[in-house]
Amino acid sequence: MAGIAAAAAADSCGYRVTLLEARRELGGRASSFEDPESDQLLDNCQHVLLGCCTNLRDLYKRLNVADRIEYHRRVHFLDSHGRRFDLWGVSGLPAPLHLGPAMLGFSALTLPERKQVITAMLAMLRMGKTGREKLEGQGFGQWLTEHRQSDRVIQRFYDPVLISALNEETRRAGSKYAIQVFQDAMLMNQHGYVVGLPGCALEELYSHRPCADVRLGTRVSEIMFAGGQATGVTLQTGETLNADAIILATNYHAVQRWIPEALRTTDGRFAHLDKLESVPILGAHLWFDKPVMRLSHAALFDGPLQWLFRKDAEGKILHGVISAAREWAEKPREKCAELFQKQIQQLFPDSSARLLRQKIVIEKRATFSPLPGSDAWRPAQAPPPGGIENLFLAGDYTNTNWPATMEGAVRSGYLAADAVTRKFAAPGGREKDKTFLIPDLPTQWPARLLEQ
Ligand SMILES: Cc1cc2nc3c(=O)[nH]c(=O)nc-3n(C[C@H](O)[C@H](O)[C@H](O)COP(=O)(O)OP(=O)(O)OC[C@H]3O[C@@H](n4cnc5c(N)ncnc54)[C@H](O)[C@@H]3O)c2cc1C
Repeated sequence: MAGIAAAAAADSCGYRVTLLEARRELGGRASSFEDPESDQLLDNCQHVLLGCCTNLRDLYKRLNVADRIEYHRRVHFLDSHGRRFDLWGVSGLPAPLHLGPAMLGFSALTLPERKQVITAMLAMLRMGKTGREKLEGQGFGQWLTEHRQSDRVIQRFYDPVLISALNEETRRAGSKYAIQVFQDAMLMNQHGYVVGLPGCALEELYSHRPCADVRLGTRVSEIMFAGGQATGVTLQTGETLNADAIILATNYHAVQRWIPEALRTTDGRFAHLDKLESVPILGAHLWFDKPVMRLSHAALFDGPLQWLFRKDAEGKILHGVISAAREWAEKPREKCAELFQKQIQQLFPDSSARLLRQKIVIEKRATFSPLPGSDAWRPAQAPPPGGIENLFLAGDYTNTNWPATMEGAVRSGYLAADAVTRKFAAPGGREKDKTFLIPDLPTQWPARLLEQ
């Protein structure tokens, strides 16, 4: 997504862009694969976006696929017996009032528990965006304790939202990013919380190319340098390509090996990448003999699966997700399937459906963890003074002020394209101040009034 975004942005202002992708399809971690058994294109994992993902939505517009995203204004939650609770926004009411009626009536929590949550939400509103920045080094567990949020409230409210949004345990995540999820998605703008699900396989979202020269199945084996600058790349085939600037948009595990040690010491962007911690995500494709779930999606209060998505019209094909899935990485797939089937039988006791087949995909290095203090390890897209001046970085791990998400990746791509544009702009030209970055949704007046 970072590479696609950078290519689309740079292409739009007249650069001659070549996008090199090692795989046979675009999309990286947010892509699909062909499943020979079902003859279907399956996503490596369900990908969800929210209304507050302004840059991702902009990229989908650039790629002409904005209409392939289906938006849901009711967010469904299920307890372990399949009892349903919804959060929804009153259309026309500005944030945070829009969620007020749903929050007051959210009977998954007792009345005192709802009061607890509302008190915490008001604290998040009062601190505004500057307040959350100050909490960058603090764990969200500490914040929850200080704001007297009980274990049951954490399990029934914070966990279903945060574990999937941050790919980290609620208490372990950094306060800055945990609070950002609530501020941006629920509290600041009435459109922030709306859940977007692609209505097609992820791969189909990239059929419109971001630039004319896209080379799939083309693996870069080396970046060439001369006089401290990047001059081009060598492909695995031995072919070389020269370039005035390179945006390196692989994930952070791959980055270090591209850069010679001598250059790494003068360019601080590469100094701390090994401090970022990778966290797995499990995605389970489940085929049943009868319809199981009518809802398009549901967040689950009790595990092991944390979210379920319906993948066909009838509800016979489901996709389940476990984020922060450290303990699942080595579990035998049959054991996983047994546990998931049991959970689904409990959730939908009337369906009496039998699991016909499962395909479980575990991405061991799905995203980096937004631990407290992790911003210090995330590199900027643009080189520092004395760094490799025509080598730019993009990727969800770079410093975007967002957790590792598609939105974060797209922001990083736009920021990298901004930096390229700044470097090559004519002195005093308008391009110097150009930014591709789309601003956050505006903070609406009731939220602004509450901010201190
Ligand atoms: C299982 C899972 C579930 C997720 N769920 C969500 C979700 O619901 N919502 C959400 O917003 N985000 C989700 N994410 C996170 C999201 O997918 C990532 O944050 C985002 O896709 C990262 O994009 P990227 O461009 O930074 O990196 P990547 O997608 O890793 O892209 C790097 C690209 O570089 C290519 N590459 C590597 N080496 C070479 C080479 N030598 N030559 C050429 N090309 C090379 C790779 O093939 C890849 O395409 C999920 C991630 C995973 C793994």
